[in-house]
Amino acid sequence: MGEAVSRVALVTGGSRGIGRAIAELLASAGHSVAVNYVSNASAADDAVRVIEAAGGRALAVQGDVGDETAVATLIDQVQDQLGSVEILVNNAGITRDDLIMRMKPESWDEVLQTNLRSVYLCSKAVMRGMLRARWGRIISVSSVAGVYGNAGQANYSAAKAGIIGFTKGLAKEVGSRGITVNAVAPGFIATDMTAALGEDTTSAAVERITLGRLGTAREVATAVGYLASDDASYITGQTIVVDGGLAL
Ligand code: NAP
Repeated sequence: MGEAVSRVALVTGGSRGIGRAIAELLASAGHSVAVNYVSNASAADDAVRVIEAAGGRALAVQGDVGDETAVATLIDQVQDQLGSVEILVNNAGITRDDLIMRMKPESWDEVLQTNLRSVYLCSKAVMRGMLRARWGRIISVSSVAGVYGNAGQANYSAAKAGIIGFTKGLAKEVGSRGITVNAVAPGFIATDMTAALGEDTTSAAVERITLGRLGTAREVATAVGYLASDDASYITGQTIVVDGGLAL
């Protein structure tokens, strides 16, 4: 294990669910953490309070990560208040599920914008600082839907598969500059997103999971924390599946 270095991290959608667990874990590893959110200021403030109460450093930053101007503003804010982003976690995501015959173009566009365009915009916005530092970690939250596909989620599956392709392409582009680019692909994790699925869908999912239960946000966060660490310095372009054996 290397010596712990304190860095500046940005977690998009860090106010709730998986992103929040990632923000708390990175803060507990000694990093300063920007907690991004789009509308739920009280959840983001609460995340900051919890991190500060544990002795960490955090900052809530509002901004729609699918919007170019908003991303530029939020990255500037993090830069001014915490410093140049060294660890970027592209976690923000939404679902707009429907069968393709019924799916409205707006549902396609919203999901692609929030889940995939955001990854391009945020990665681009932190790139100059990482190239200058010759060190950087970009970790994006994909999904098993992006690896295996999910009926009723063609838009979401496309965006999450897009993250995996983006990860490989960018990894090759910046590998010689000390920057690693990876993804994690969670299965069913207990958050507000999966709570919206209802009991029948959830129990049907549990039956297919080898470990026989949903995962916790922290179980995804620990994989992200590892990829963000100096210990993962020789891993790039990869997607770690964290699904309790769903896909076995
Ligand atoms: P969640 O509980 O619904 O939280 C979503 C987070 O994203 C919130 O912090 C939300 O901010 C933020 N967000 C949404 N749209 C945004 C935007 N346009 N700009 C900035 N922030 C935005 O979701 P989750 O379950 O933790 O999921 C987190 C990530 O993991 C997503 O990418 C999701 O696709 C992926 N994932 C989840 C599961 C699962 O089972 N839960 C499985 C596989 C992959 P506000 O608080 O302001 O709304």
